[in-house]
Amino acid sequence: MSVKKNIALVAHDNCKKDMVEWVGWNWSVLLKHHLICTGTTGRLVEEALVRKTEDGHHPMPVMTLLKSGPFGGDQQLGAMIADGKIDILIFFWDPMQPQPHDVDVKALLRISVLYNIPAACNRSSADFVISSPLMDEEYIPARRDYSQYLQRNLEF
Ligand code: PGA
Repeated sequence: MSVKKNIALVAHDNCKKDMVEWVGWNWSVLLKHHLICTGTTGRLVEEALVRKTEDGHHPMPVMTLLKSGPFGGDQQLGAMIADGKIDILIFFWDPMQPQPHDVDVKALLRISVLYNIPAACNRSSADFVISSPLMDEEYIPARRDYSQYLQRNLEF
């Protein structure tokens, strides 16, 4: 991943206030990167960043808004991770409420672990990620060698 990072932002409804506050705290760092969000989270993040940049001194970051999470947005993000298009996942998922797209949530978390991208699932983890010196450096996540698995011999 390069110095300019592709950062995915997702928050479940009960965690959206947290995400908006977090973006409000970290807007100046986030402006340097490309933000990719699920639909509703993205709308709120965009509004928060517009409020912070309305003095006109700071350009808005490049933002990509995907579908809303339950309508495929989480799956779109998962596919982007598999394609190497997401460097960091900030995902405030709700530990207290079942989600209609629970399987998509699990899939997104799984694929982020498989591809070893930094995945912060609460505000303190997100604070540690965003303040890491690695944010300003190039970084190549180590990947386990799955070649044996991919070349396994399946005889029927
Ligand atoms: P949303 O989706 O940003 O469209 O609300 C979040 C989620 O994945 O639940």
